[in-house]
Amino acid sequence: MFNALIVNKDDDGKTNASVSQIGEDQLPEGDVLVAVDYSTVNYKDGLCIGPGGGLVRNYPHVPGIDFAGTVEASEDDRYKPGDKVVLTGWRVGENRWGGYAQKARVKADMLVPLPEGITTRQAMAVGTAGFTAMLAVMALEDHGIKDGPVLVTGAAGGVGSVATAILAKLGHEVAAVTGRPETTEYLKDLGATQIVARDEINETTKRPLEAEAWGGCVDAVGGAMLARVLGQMKYGASVSAVGLAGGAALPATVVPFLLRGVNLLGIDSVMQPYDNRLRAWQRIAQDLPMDKLEAMIRPAALGDLPQLGADILKGQVQGRVVVDVNA
Ligand code: NDP
Repeated sequence: MFNALIVNKDDDGKTNASVSQIGEDQLPEGDVLVAVDYSTVNYKDGLCIGPGGGLVRNYPHVPGIDFAGTVEASEDDRYKPGDKVVLTGWRVGENRWGGYAQKARVKADMLVPLPEGITTRQAMAVGTAGFTAMLAVMALEDHGIKDGPVLVTGAAGGVGSVATAILAKLGHEVAAVTGRPETTEYLKDLGATQIVARDEINETTKRPLEAEAWGGCVDAVGGAMLARVLGQMKYGASVSAVGLAGGAALPATVVPFLLRGVNLLGIDSVMQPYDNRLRAWQRIAQDLPMDKLEAMIRPAALGDLPQLGADILKGQVQGRVVVDVNA
């Protein structure tokens, strides 16, 4: 038997989450059994710990959309006991049991071998948010980052923190947008050269184009902020759209696309092909300063997750929560 965070739904449709003991026979089918070391807390986890947000199909449920650990048993030639692995995506932790347990059983295709130079704890300090930040930076690179600062919105959150650290390490000036002035020192330590107050960019304007300001953008916020940013991009620059922490509606015009050749790049971490996932993890091991990553970590245990799930839905989590499932 081992520990897991189990979410149940009662007859009134109310969910409750608590740590319980379960057995291997309760795990879903799959060809690799992983002893989980660490998981993390993402926005989707907040939804899945709580009412589900339409993501969870069946209860009882074990959330945790990502994890890193050690292969315990494998029926697939690509993995053998003792291998370090990481998993993000595949709707694990949503419609399939995930990483908030001391063991997880998954399909081999869902895993990526952990590259040299990164531990399972560091991998989960990166987690889905950081992996997505890397995909967003890679997409900007593929389309060419223009001169001038690269804007990161939702900068004090998970995606934003990692994107800030990676872009700074790659030598870009980073303008970090935050609604929390108290995170200024934290963001500067990650490498941000400029702090932009959230309200400055969140204000709506009737002007579809403003002064060209940003050579690229990683946007974790969406909504009115993304609409405004599109009109501030340099000619031919790109925006990697990652999230919707600020809303799903996009009150924009087509003008930035027509008159400034702006590219809006959608980033989806869930359905990435294996080669991209491997390349992104290799780039993370190479380009993410691990000392900066340490500064982002907030340690947690399985029992802390109900509260943390509620906090992340309110945008109140700074940096990256690393869940030690064995603590
Ligand atoms: P976090 O909650 O850690 O960070 C989001 C940040 O956005 C907050 O810290 C806050 O930053 C800012 N923010 C929150 N609410 C608002 C608001 N109303 N208006 C403006 N800014 C706001 O989440 P993550 O970084 O983990 O994820 C960010 C988004 O990316 C989420 O929507 C998530 O679902 C999505 N995502 C998408 C993935 C994909 O595959 N496309 C993968 C992972 C995440 P600050 O305090 O600095 O202002």
